[in-house]
Amino acid sequence: MTFPETTALPSPVLAEGFEGAEPARWTNRFATLGPQFFTELPGTGLPEPHWIATSPDCAATLGWPADWWTRPGALEVFSGNAHLPGMRPLATVYSGHQFGVWAGQLGDGRALMLGGIDTPDGHFELQLKGAGLTPYSRRGDGRAVLRSSIREFLCSEAMAALGIPTTRALALTGSARLKVQRETVETGAIVTRVAPSFLRFGHFEHFTHHGMEAQTRELFDHFVRHHAPECADAPNPVTAVLAKVAAQTADMVAQWQAVGFMHGVMNTDNMSMLGLTIDYGPFGFMDGFDPGHVCNHSDHQGRYAFARQPQVAFWNLHALAQALLPLMPGVEDDQDAAGDELIAALDIYRERFGNALLGAMRAKLGLSAEVDERGEDGPLIDDWLRLLAAHHTDYTIAHRRLAAFDESRAPDAADAPGNAALRDLFLDRAAFDAWALRYAARLKLEPAAASASPSTPSTRAERMNAVNPAVVLRNHLAETAIRQAEAGDFSEVRRLLEVLRRPYDAPAQASDAGFPPDWANDLEVSCSS
Ligand code: AMP
Ligand code: MG
Repeated sequence: MTFPETTALPSPVLAEGFEGAEPARWTNRFATLGPQFFTELPGTGLPEPHWIATSPDCAATLGWPADWWTRPGALEVFSGNAHLPGMRPLATVYSGHQFGVWAGQLGDGRALMLGGIDTPDGHFELQLKGAGLTPYSRRGDGRAVLRSSIREFLCSEAMAALGIPTTRALALTGSARLKVQRETVETGAIVTRVAPSFLRFGHFEHFTHHGMEAQTRELFDHFVRHHAPECADAPNPVTAVLAKVAAQTADMVAQWQAVGFMHGVMNTDNMSMLGLTIDYGPFGFMDGFDPGHVCNHSDHQGRYAFARQPQVAFWNLHALAQALLPLMPGVEDDQDAAGDELIAALDIYRERFGNALLGAMRAKLGLSAEVDERGEDGPLIDDWLRLLAAHHTDYTIAHRRLAAFDESRAPDAADAPGNAALRDLFLDRAAFDAWALRYAARLKLEPAAASASPSTPSTRAERMNAVNPAVVLRNHLAETAIRQAEAGDFSEVRRLLEVLRRPYDAPAQASDAGFPPDWANDLEVSCSS
C-alpha cells in the first residue's frame, strides 16, 4: 500500500500544558496491546487550520477549562499537525458485518487515536477523525468533509445532553485549503472524539475471523481489565462480558427509540463495546412519526429502518457472540454446547430492552410505573404510537404538547388550550379523542392527581418536559448550520451547539423547536461523508 504521509509530521512535539494549570499526562492504553492491533503513525493534519467550534461540556468532562482551546499549541494538536508529549498516535484494525454481510477488514481508515488521559471521571481516549490516510483507509482518502463533521460534532454533544450514551466531541477544526473529493469538491475538517474506549464489536470479529485466537484473548483481557473488571471474577467471564454488552446495548437502543433517533448505519463495526452511540453518519431524528422510516439514503433495503433498530442490535450482538466463541471454556470439546451457552447470555437483551423502552415511554407520557397494576400502560403507549404513525405526527412536538394536556377537561374542550394544541396535530379528531379519553383516565390514577398533593398537574408537565426534548438535531437545523459554514460563517454551528446543550429548555428562537420547513423534505443524507 502506498503510505506517503507518515513522514509529514511538521512538528514533533509542542509546548506542553495548554490543558490547564497541570499538563495532562498522556498515555495510550491501546498501544500496550501487541503490534497486530494497530499501526502507529503521525497522521496528516489540516493545512492552515482554524477552529470551527469546541464543546465546553466535553472539555468539562475531561476536567479542562472552557477556554483550553485558546492556549498555545491547541489548534495545531487538534488539527492533527502536532502532538503532545506522551501521545502515541495510532490507527486500530477491525473488521465487521456491513448491511448483514461480512465486509472483511475495515479499521480506522480516517481516525487517529492520539492517546488517553486520566480525569476525575475516569480514563478517556481522544481520537481525531479525518486526519489522513492510514493502512486501513482502503479506497478512502482518510478525510472527513466539513458537512459530515459538523453533523457528528453537533449530534455527539446533543446526544450527551439528552443523556443518551455516546462518544463525545471536543472540538471541530477545519481548513479552507484542504479540498476533498466526494460527489463534488468539498473542504475537509477534523472532529476530536472522546470516549472511554473506541472498541467496537468489529475489533473482536477481526481477530476471530482470522483465527488469531491469542489476539482475541488479549483483547478480551484488555477489555475486562479496563471496562468490565467485575466480569473477571464471574464464573464465566466470557458470558458475563457478553451479557454486559447486551444490557448496555439494550439500554442505548431503548433510548434511541424513545427519542426517535435513527443511527442509519448499524454495521457491527459501528457498534461500541461500551454501548455508546458511535460513528455519526447518515443519522436522523424522527420528524413525522413513521416506524418504517429509513434515514440513510444509501440503505436501499431499509435494513436500518427506525423500527428495526432493536432487532438489528440483537443481530449484531450475535455477531459479537460468534467472535467471542473461541474464548468459551470447553469450546474445543463441544462447540455446539459452548455456543448455546454463550448465546444464552444474550437472553437478557429482550427483557432489558423491553423494560428500558417501557420505562422511557412511561416517563415521556408522565406515567409512573407503580400505578400500572393491570399492565395497561404498554397498550396505551402502543396505541399512542399507532396514532402518531397513522397521522405522521411530529414525534418531538407531539410529546412536548402532551405535557400541557389537561386530563380534568374533555379532550375536545376548546377552552383547554393544552388539549386544543395537542388535538390540532391529528386530522382524525375522533381517533385522537378516543385515545385521549383513555389517557386522561390513566392520568387520573396518578398519585398526585388522586391525592391532590403534594404535586399538581403542573409538576407532571415539568417532569414530562424534563424527558421530552424541545429541540433535537433535525436534519434541517444541521443543514442550515452546514450551509452557512460552507460559506465560511461558523456562527450557526456554535449557536446550535448552545441550543442543543439544553435540549429540554424551550429555545429562545422558537423555530428551533418548530416543525421542519417544507424544504427539509428534500434533504437526503447518505453514507457519503
Ligand atoms: P463508516 O461506514 O463511515 O463507519 O466507515 C466504514 C469504514 O470505512 C471504516 O473502516 C472507515 O474508517 C472507512 N472510511 C470511511 N470513509 C473513509 C475515508 N474517507 N477514508 C478512509 N476510510 C474511510
Ligand atoms: Mg464506522
